[in-house]
Amino acid sequence: MAAVPFVIAVHGGAGTMSPNPDLEAPYHRALKAALAAGAALLESGGAALDAVQAAVVSLEDCPLFNAGRGSVYTAAARHEMDAAVMDGQRLAAGAVACVHGVRNPVLLARSVLSDSGHVLMVGEGAQCFAQQMGLAMEPDAWFDTEERLDDLRRAQRQRRAMGVPAPLRDSGHFGTVGAVALDAHGHLAGAVSTGGLTAKRPGRVGDSAVIGAGIYANDLSCAVVATGTGEHFIRTAAAHDVHARMLYRGQSLQEAAPDVVFGELLRIGGRGGLIAVDARGEVSMPFNTAGMYRGVQRQGEAACTAIFQDQAPAA
Ligand code: ASP
Repeated sequence: MAAVPFVIAVHGGAGTMSPNPDLEAPYHRALKAALAAGAALLESGGAALDAVQAAVVSLEDCPLFNAGRGSVYTAAARHEMDAAVMDGQRLAAGAVACVHGVRNPVLLARSVLSDSGHVLMVGEGAQCFAQQMGLAMEPDAWFDTEERLDDLRRAQRQRRAMGVPAPLRDSGHFGTVGAVALDAHGHLAGAVSTGGLTAKRPGRVGDSAVIGAGIYANDLSCAVVATGTGEHFIRTAAAHDVHARMLYRGQSLQEAAPDVVFGELLRIGGRGGLIAVDARGEVSMPFNTAGMYRGVQRQGEAACTAIFQDQAPAA
């Protein structure tokens, strides 16, 4: 088969943020670094699955985002992380939930895909598996950031004052990270990683670890990863819904992805967005919040990133 032009897209979460050029530059740099990490592999004929994994590792290691280092805090002021990967060629998937101390949860999700014989592993069993796989572990403090601790305190004050369940509030920034790619062999893949929602109950699992909710990939249609109020993405099987609309209803990616983000998801109160790439290299990145950190790189072109609505990704 002739090589197809590769494309990779990444996101660093959606939410309500206000424009502030001084604060935005580091996000653009981090998104471009993640795109470059993935594109370097795709350039040399590497697999989409390896490329999305490399992009997400880059974002996990950056404390600006709510994944790996920089993960948000649970109500018990701990970090519990979820991650997943999916390979659209084989429909192979791996996911982990509620892990702590694992430096790069996306690598653990990849090990679940490759070496566990399972799809989803959680908690202590997943921790032991990470050690068996020789993955890097870090002390809890390594994941701490002042900003996320401030978010927790703010969420707890809000909960005390208004009785609002802070994790599902309609404001704030969901900083989950994700990547989708089409490789030169025509295969699709996605990867996602998150600390979840600030002040979530210990043991809560979000959409990122649920195949079909926060992530889905199938060479017949598209690769999708989501960010936002995970409970709503689980309830609408959002990522799989994009795939299903394309496969069963014959919608294009440009129709299916916004229909999911602005349709039933929004109707039941779901806030956030998704990034998706289809088997022809089309990219869609709809979101129903004020902004979503996002970027795309096509073969032979400069990487483009954007944050707000009505902003075409720019180099
Ligand atoms: N979707 C993630 C979750 O619910 C949060 C996020 O996107 O930031 O765990």
